Amino acid sequence: MTTTVTAAVARSTGEPLTIESLQLDELRPNEVRVRIVASGVCHTDAIVRDGIYPTPLPAVLGHEGAGVVEGIGSDITTVEVGDHVVLSAAYCGKCVQCRSGRVAYCENLFAEDFGGARHDGSTSLSDGNGAISSHFFGQSAFSTYANVVETSVIKVDKKAPLETIAPLGCGLQTGAGAILNDLRPAPGTSIAVFGTGAVGSAAIMAAQIAGCTTIVAVDLHDSRLELAETIGATHTINGRTADVVAELDKITGGKGLDFALDTTAVPAVLQQAAASLGIGGTVALVGAAAPGTDVTFEIGASLVKGWTFKTIIQGSSVPQQFIPRLVLLWEQGRFPFDKLIKNYELDDINTAFADSENGSTIKPVVVF
Ligand code: ZN
Repeated sequence: MTTTVTAAVARSTGEPLTIESLQLDELRPNEVRVRIVASGVCHTDAIVRDGIYPTPLPAVLGHEGAGVVEGIGSDITTVEVGDHVVLSAAYCGKCVQCRSGRVAYCENLFAEDFGGARHDGSTSLSDGNGAISSHFFGQSAFSTYANVVETSVIKVDKKAPLETIAPLGCGLQTGAGAILNDLRPAPGTSIAVFGTGAVGSAAIMAAQIAGCTTIVAVDLHDSRLELAETIGATHTINGRTADVVAELDKITGGKGLDFALDTTAVPAVLQQAAASLGIGGTVALVGAAAPGTDVTFEIGASLVKGWTFKTIIQGSSVPQQFIPRLVLLWEQGRFPFDKLIKNYELDDINTAFADSENGSTIKPVVVF
């Protein structure tokens, strides 16, 4: 038996999403039927809409869903009907990386999250003309209901408002996890965060939780830098007007940074981040660039620093472990990510995308 849902559909490359009625098929044994209450809008939705990542269109995107469990497949053991859940990236759970606890680095990440279909090639969504790509990040959350794979589902505290905690599953987990799960800065160390959108802002809050004593926000928008100061940044630099490398040298008393996190994936910014490291420093990239993007680093004078460049996916998180921790930190006022959020109705989803792209909203969340 199929169910009629209302969803935002990406029909063709670069075009606005359209609100349509679609058919959602029957639950499979490994799936959870979720009534979506809210879904964050993320840069990754925009780059798939724009054809930079090849999920087949038409597709229902949305990968920061949150909602209530309405039904469970016969193999489901981790949630029950009525549970509140946040949805995150899917992983296979069977490859060596998954079995090692590194689920963010699942060997089957692309098929699980960007393939637009189940393993058997079927999609859960269709219209009168045929299949619509589904299971984006295991969920396709820009829809009133979704059939979600179990690895995407995280049970959360029912007291936490779903329209607030929805975006924990991707952008906020990515920024906070890069700090708390991967870089793990020691108390008293220094870090600069390049780009203070949702991911960068989450990283700033996490750096404060970790005990970093120098936390520098670097961005092009003064409004974002002002917000950064309210969530933990000790210093701010506007990259449009300042010499970023010289400014960071001054802030660190000539020692250079212990950590730099780049959320922009702009090669020139990544070069500034690397050039600002001190001895033994680490620069990490969490931003998504188009495949084929290159960056060059100085390797002569910097050799003696013993520095590291690394990439980090999804904050190296195990979402079922990390997201409930972020909810607890939010409940204690130590991870105030609600300051980043503006809610939109489903009919205004293209405004949400536009406001995210022009920087006027840091984290749009569509409420169903
Ligand atoms: Zn895997």
